[in-house]
Amino acid sequence: MTEETLSFQAEVSRLLDIVANALYSQDEVFLRELVSNASDACDRLRYAAISEPHLLGEDPELAIEIAPDKEAATLTVADNGIGMNREELIENLGTIARSGTAAFVQALGEKKGEVEQIGQFGVGFYAAFMVADKVEVLTRKAGDEQGWHWVSDGKGSFTVGEAGSGESAEAPARGTRIVLHLKADKREYLEPHRLRHVVKTYSDHIAVPVRLREGGK
Ligand code: ADP
Ligand code: MG
Repeated sequence: MTEETLSFQAEVSRLLDIVANALYSQDEVFLRELVSNASDACDRLRYAAISEPHLLGEDPELAIEIAPDKEAATLTVADNGIGMNREELIENLGTIARSGTAAFVQALGEKKGEVEQIGQFGVGFYAAFMVADKVEVLTRKAGDEQGWHWVSDGKGSFTVGEAGSGESAEAPARGTRIVLHLKADKREYLEPHRLRHVVKTYSDHIAVPVRLREGGK
């Protein structure tokens, strides 16, 4: 199957427009949101594995890795948690399920809201577009053969296709890799000391090990 282009739900587009274009001093919360999602994905796999132990397979140690790549100017947040199938990717990263989001979007638009609270509205993933002008998601659901590649510049639409086919990179064996192509003025998030500080500030309580890959490119 070839790559498909799909539109974001109108409310998501509006949220992305505000989140991507405003100047937020708290943009560092994007990392808290991505680590929190990665941690949730590990929890969900651990729970699913109670009745289906084979899901953990040969990779039972759940962990989160944050990997800056200075050459490519990308920051990757990877987990070996539950992953997503195609339907879940489209539903979870293209629509907003929870009510109350409209109020948040309106408050942000009127500059009365705090972007810091984004996670409380069930839209934390979209915080990635505060620091990235392109986001790629490579994911394979635990137990599934096929992995998926989601790409968006946050401007109205996203594409979904099979990972590992055509131009697409491979998905992890299990779980999700979020690749952020950092905006030119957000390259501070390639610096290990900056990343260490943000992880310590927001993700100290995360139960799954959070590893910062250092000495990378
Ligand atoms: P919330 O975490 O409050 O549900 P988010 O916008 O942060 O809202 O994430 C939306 C959804 O996308 C999550 O509920 C989850 O289903 C899915 N998701 C995001 N990141 C991951 C991940 N790393 N692994 C698996 N699913 C994920
Ligand atoms: Mg979240």
